Amino acid sequence: MSISRTFSGTVGSTPLIPLVRLSHELGRTILGKAEFLNPGGSVKDRAAKAIIDDAEERGALRSGGTIVEGTAGNTGIALALVANERGYRCTIVIPDDQSMEKIELLRTIGADVRVVPAVAFTDPENYYHVARRIAEQTPGAVWADQFENPANRRAHEQTTGPEIWEQCEGRLDAFITSAGTGGTIAGVALALKKRDPRIIVGLCDPMGSALYAHVTTGSLDVEGDSNVEGIGIKRITKNFAGAPIDHAMRVVDRDAIEMAHWLLRREGLFLGGSAALNVVGAARLARTLPEGSRVVTILCDGGQRYQSRIFNETWLQENDVLPCARGLEFL
Ligand code: PMP
Repeated sequence: MSISRTFSGTVGSTPLIPLVRLSHELGRTILGKAEFLNPGGSVKDRAAKAIIDDAEERGALRSGGTIVEGTAGNTGIALALVANERGYRCTIVIPDDQSMEKIELLRTIGADVRVVPAVAFTDPENYYHVARRIAEQTPGAVWADQFENPANRRAHEQTTGPEIWEQCEGRLDAFITSAGTGGTIAGVALALKKRDPRIIVGLCDPMGSALYAHVTTGSLDVEGDSNVEGIGIKRITKNFAGAPIDHAMRVVDRDAIEMAHWLLRREGLFLGGSAALNVVGAARLARTLPEGSRVVTILCDGGQRYQSRIFNETWLQENDVLPCARGLEFL
């Protein structure tokens, strides 16, 4: 351990945590990449740092400039912190259906936060288009565009994927995660397949997302809806396109929430909904593999960001997803 040169230099190199009790129950090892331990608290620190590094290298972002992004929260939090460190302004456009914790945190850390109505992507007032317009109209501004910007996926191909490979010493059978921009799944999948094409790559998709249909049938059909934040999308982004995915499954919110509470009670891991959904996916995929197999997934962020939602009894009751499992019978 040595002194890090900068705060953003501490992004990545996260531990790979064995989910000991879950692995014991399954007879297969589930390993979680602890992305919630990144300095900004989520997997999106990697993409944000890479996007800013890239904009600096291209000369697009100069001292005193502004970085603009439309985000479900975590990318905004990460961008705002790196922007503070490096002397940039940061404007974040966030839809109003995201947790108050993330919106308040963005304000606290100094982002210029614009909360907009959560409307469909086809609506020009969707947060994505609003962010692009703000960037176009602001002198010295750069639009991060995490969905289409290849720096996002590259960050995972160059860091997350190789870290997982090295931590496993090349011994892993499958990798599975959900996708928002697709940067994580595509980048990690490319890095792992390059090292060992036999590694199975799985996608676990929330309801209300088109990625499951895209992988299994090639259509963009959507079924149901989800309250799990940061994942699920109804279009194919450049960051997702071409990801070498072998297997896709859908996971309903109820099961992800059961898992979030189980992980807290039984593993001591206080995680967000997407991380819990990923663990459900990892467990279900592991069950299809021989005993003793090793499956890696991503623990995207921590539970603090969702205390008013998936860890709040009133919210759980209102959304009819109050956890009731005693063990892992929901798997
Ligand atoms: N989980 C959470 C909580 C997120 O904020 C995100 C990013 N939107 C993801 C998962 C998905 O990551 P990616 O954008 O790399 O697909």
